[in-house]
Amino acid sequence: MQNEDFVNGLMAFIASSPTPFHAVRTMADILELHGYKQLQETDEWQLHDREPSGERFYVTRNDSSIIAFQLNQSLVENGLCMVGAHTDSPCLKVKPNPEIINNQYLQLGVEVYGGVLLNPWFDRDLSLAGRVSYLNESGSIEHQLIDFKKAIASIPSLAIHLDREANDKHTVDKQKHLPPILMKLPDSDIEQSADFKALLLKILNANEDTAQCKATRVLDYELSFYDVQPPSVIGLHDDFIASARLDNLLSCYTGLMALIENEGKQNALLVCNDHEEVGSMSAVGAQGPFLKSVLERLSGSDESTTRMLANSVLISADNAHGVHPNFADKHDANHGPLINSGPVIKVNANQRYASNSETGALFKHLCDLADVPVQSFVVRSDMACGSTIGPITASELGVKTVDVGVPTFAMHSIRELAGRWDAFYLYRVLKQLFM
Ligand code: ZN
Repeated sequence: MQNEDFVNGLMAFIASSPTPFHAVRTMADILELHGYKQLQETDEWQLHDREPSGERFYVTRNDSSIIAFQLNQSLVENGLCMVGAHTDSPCLKVKPNPEIINNQYLQLGVEVYGGVLLNPWFDRDLSLAGRVSYLNESGSIEHQLIDFKKAIASIPSLAIHLDREANDKHTVDKQKHLPPILMKLPDSDIEQSADFKALLLKILNANEDTAQCKATRVLDYELSFYDVQPPSVIGLHDDFIASARLDNLLSCYTGLMALIENEGKQNALLVCNDHEEVGSMSAVGAQGPFLKSVLERLSGSDESTTRMLANSVLISADNAHGVHPNFADKHDANHGPLINSGPVIKVNANQRYASNSETGALFKHLCDLADVPVQSFVVRSDMACGSTIGPITASELGVKTVDVGVPTFAMHSIRELAGRWDAFYLYRVLKQLFM
């Protein structure tokens, strides 16, 4: 695949994946197109007693985490080449009883999910998407992904005339300042117009998937706001991709493309977990049992799993901080990754990243083979270091792991910036891994 096709595919993937649920559905659709068959966790698989011959499978959990794999040779003897990423991004999630009526405006109460950089959320055209659970006409519970698609809300800034210190000491009160405004309510029938679950019911019944069996009552939902501005290539020489959720849909897409195009002989696996942005400790997060249970079912016994994992390697891909020219002193002078200068190996002596000299060497060698430049990142010695799914998965499984990622600006903003070449470089390296 050429860079332009890859970048266009990445941007389309992000645009159709406003939430982890949508990201998993989009990935499953692409996997199906490439011959991957869905496995259900509730079924008996019996994969461990078969001779692998290139079968391709995927399995999801909670509609928000996904594992896909291709088995080409003996798992115990050869292990797996694995790539890990996460499907979630920091955002604003709608509260269970969300309606706020204030000065005749309808607003929705929101919870902050993960480490959101809040200021960029003001003055954006916001839409809403996620999963809704409802009762249907025949009395059973159904679950449906919804996406309003159009901009239905905004969080307007306060005018500078009403806050003269806005540019010097602006802080965001998460409870008071964030509820997005959806509409000006009419003078009468206010209660009816402001019923959020009634609005969701209307959306569900307008949806083709629910049309045959009508939704009668909304029971619950997980919905989050997102910016409707589509991803775009920007810069005088088209150097950058500007988009929401580059952390970490960029790595999900990169791993997915490397997997589906792989014609190699290795056993290849991609795992994309939800809940990284809130610490990974959940039934579907990297600290939960999802990957481990899939691997145990593939290998068949404790002994085989241990032997298989000892022969395996994981590349954990999550974006890195590029050195920002206006804030260059936030980086160690010898470890400031540049955008479009290649993927970054992330190192931390205190194991906030799982890379070690053995796995770092392997990644550098793969970059050489793929003819891709490579950089390294270590946080300044006087600053705290971030983390990702790499060390969590490594400690859950005991698998050799390297933490890598493409350098970006504005991580956790509603619009982040990455290099148009870096994601493509990483894709080439991951393809090399699967060869
Ligand atoms: Zn991330």
